[in-house]
Amino acid sequence: MDFSLSDEERAIRDTARTFIRKEVAALEDEVLRRERRGEPSITRDELRELQLKAKQFGFWGLSTPEEYGGMNLPAVMQSLIFTEIGHTFVPFRFGGEADNILYFANEEQKKEYLIPTIEGDRISCFAITEPGAGSDAANIKLSARPDGSDWVLNGEKTFITNGNDADFVIVVAVTDKEKGVRGGGTTAFLADRAMGWTSSFIQTMGEGGPAALSFDNVRVPARNILGEVGQGFELGMAWIGKGRYTIPSTGIGIAERALQMAIDYANVRETFGKPIGTNQAIQWMIADSETEIEAARGLVLRAAWAADQGMDNRHYASMCKLYGASMVNRVVDRVMQIHGGMGYTRELPIARWYRQVRLFRIFEGTDEMLRLIISRDLLRGYSKIGGHLA
Ligand SMILES: Cc1cc2nc3c(=O)[nH]c(=O)nc-3n(C[C@H](O)[C@H](O)[C@H](O)COP(=O)(O)OP(=O)(O)OC[C@H]3O[C@@H](n4cnc5c(N)ncnc54)[C@H](O)[C@@H]3O)c2cc1C
Repeated sequence: MDFSLSDEERAIRDTARTFIRKEVAALEDEVLRRERRGEPSITRDELRELQLKAKQFGFWGLSTPEEYGGMNLPAVMQSLIFTEIGHTFVPFRFGGEADNILYFANEEQKKEYLIPTIEGDRISCFAITEPGAGSDAANIKLSARPDGSDWVLNGEKTFITNGNDADFVIVVAVTDKEKGVRGGGTTAFLADRAMGWTSSFIQTMGEGGPAALSFDNVRVPARNILGEVGQGFELGMAWIGKGRYTIPSTGIGIAERALQMAIDYANVRETFGKPIGTNQAIQWMIADSETEIEAARGLVLRAAWAADQGMDNRHYASMCKLYGASMVNRVVDRVMQIHGGMGYTRELPIARWYRQVRLFRIFEGTDEMLRLIISRDLLRGYSKIGGHLA
């Protein structure tokens, strides 16, 4: 068993670390100032500028195939980089990325949607969730009916990330009620905002916010079907699958940074004439946090490694998302506790993390749905305890 990084992995990780520390983290004070003023912490132009700078460092399209100018990094390497991103609370992501399912596009669609998205000239969003169908995604109702060479879409989507900024949406619609959602009755469409769908912003406890999308007789040409008719649900599940290891990878980075802040504070903050870190109550919070971070790292890297081996990693990915999301919530909560009243202020990033990481337990598979999947895998014998090491 080898837990070390190769020289190449370490070099890529360290370059990402240097870039994030030097270029991205430099904006942290400003991000907190803007947050206190109720302003967005980073503008789209600032993000773009950082992404283009990162491109000069060689970081562009972490998961994007080389033929599209990307790095095509293995999942383990991507996970390590997402952890580095988590070390800063500036909402940064590397550029040159597109939704994983946009690669199902045909050549025409690639020119019109995939490539401009990778280049950052177009903004996409992905919509499966509806007011009546979240965890139960198979209950979607937004319909598409054929009419000449078009399909006509009617219905609502909700909680769509980027939904208010996107100029096109990958929307999953019911195209054959008889077949049902799981039986090939759904299709994914590439629908431009100009085709007539509208969006309204949803305020959340985090920064930014998703949007509700409304489709009222929106005509989408048949050439805008992504993949095959009937493949919509399958594509939707593939889209969701990716976040299952990137979200907890970021969570590990956030937890590491927050825990380091707590350790530094525990060593200098004095009560009753001695540093608070000399109290067992504080020491235990630190010890539990470090232990849980390492447990999450093991789960996340195993899920990423399994993907790199071409194995079906869904069982591992569910476990790493479930554990990693709750781990970072527990760690940030303890870090706030260790900082006392200061932890609750907007002078420090802890309250910001607190609000941000709460989402990790909800989107791209709630804790409860992941538990359901993990136990179902075992009860039905799809997975065995211990996986490939059993
Ligand atoms: C900020 C944000 C961004 C999002 N971005 C997107 C996006 O880009 N695209 C998109 O399509 N969707 C997106 N979503 C939607 C997200 O995936 C859903 O909110 C999530 O799947 C949960 O669905 P729901 O909100 O309808 O909750 P519900 O499904 O109504 O669940 C409510 C509660 O009941 C629990 N529950 C449900 N069924 C069961 C069961 N069988 N057993 C036990 N417990 C159960 C859930 O775990 C949860 O605790 C986003 C959501 C948010 C908040």
